[in-house]
Amino acid sequence: MGLNIGCAAAPGQARDNKTGSWRVFKPEVDHEKCTKCGNCVMVCPETAVYLNDDAVVIDLDFCKGCGLCAEECPTDAITMNLEDK
Ligand code: SF4
Ligand code: SF4
Repeated sequence: MGLNIGCAAAPGQARDNKTGSWRVFKPEVDHEKCTKCGNCVMVCPETAVYLNDDAVVIDLDFCKGCGLCAEECPTDAITMNLEDK
């Protein structure tokens, strides 16, 4: 007996699929609170977060809204807000 489950996205690496369309909650960064520790960069399963010279940047084309970055931020600099669709 088979299981009736499947994969909604085509096979491939995370960067091949624009997972931003899955998002219900959107992360927003308070740059005043951010210490640029890099935790959010390390935990993001979609590699949607990166640090540039000035700030943390979230690429919303790939952010699926899982909230891991907000959970792991030591200064509560990231809040998850309902997506405006
Ligand atoms: S985890 Fe929080 S404090 Fe650290 S870089 Fe990300 S937003 Fe900034
Ligand atoms: S909510 Fe945060 S950890 Fe999750 S995909 Fe978006 S940027 Fe990455």
